[in-house]
Amino acid sequence: MKLFAVFGNPISHSKSPILHNYVLYKLGIDARYIRYLLESLDNFRDLFFSMGLSGANITLPYKESLIKSCDEVRGIANEIGAINTIVREDSKLIGYNTDAIGFYKNIENENIKNALILGAGGSARAIAFILKEHNIDVSIVNRSAKNLDFFKQNGFQTFLNKEVLSLDKNIDIVINATSSSINNALPLEQTTLENIFSGTKIAFDLMYGKECEFLSLAKRQNLKTIDGEKMLLYQAIAALALFIKIDEKTITKYMCEIFDIIKCK
Ligand code: NDP
Repeated sequence: MKLFAVFGNPISHSKSPILHNYVLYKLGIDARYIRYLLESLDNFRDLFFSMGLSGANITLPYKESLIKSCDEVRGIANEIGAINTIVREDSKLIGYNTDAIGFYKNIENENIKNALILGAGGSARAIAFILKEHNIDVSIVNRSAKNLDFFKQNGFQTFLNKEVLSLDKNIDIVINATSSSINNALPLEQTTLENIFSGTKIAFDLMYGKECEFLSLAKRQNLKTIDGEKMLLYQAIAALALFIKIDEKTITKYMCEIFDIIKCK
């Protein structure tokens, strides 16, 4: 039997085992997927091999730090500098990032040319690089300067919160990739957001499970709104395709089925 796990801290809230185990069962694959509370980064590789894992997902707060435990990193994860999926190939650990494609699948049919990302953490990096890969112009705004350096070095236009109104271009989508919505706080002052929304078509918030003030405000200004629920779904589909080497179409059918049942709340 193959074994997969999701590592993070905290981890008890993770719905990944339900999603993955349902699809593995439906496909008749002899495999299980478990949660693992990772309290320290020490000896991660030893832990991975001693558990007999064939693959793993990595969530907060280890997406950036565990990249060092991989023998090889493939695809866009190299640019992002963060992984959320590890696949074992013989004695090697291969790192991938499926958050980026998980985000992009939500908006691929929206004809977006310019994006504004609020926040400069790990998920902002993933979103910035996948949008850039699709020739979308990306600007980043963050409350503090430190995390903006990475984006500046990679050629993105960056702003501190207080400077954002000097942004002089049309914006098709505003993406809240800060953690503000966890506390139902706005990532920018309301009047600043209202100003930005007045020239924008879509508002996206990475949070899921309950409507946040960011998307409520956007709705009141008649924007199309998208939350992070489907990003979670699509990143899981892409990760499972890497784990079991089965095409995404087949996985999608069953993953959507269970996703609709549990609604990830
Ligand atoms: P990080 O901790 O790496 O980054 C958080 C960012 O938010 C930083 O830029 C931080 O600013 C900013 N920030 C935090 N609080 C506030 C606030 N009150 N006002 C304004 N800015 C704030 O987190 P991640 O990038 O990994 O995740 C961000 C959010 O996205 C989380 O809520 C996470 O749950 C969600 N997420 C959802 C996914 C999905 O599948 N739907 C996938 C990944 C993440 P500073 O740099 O100044 O500290």
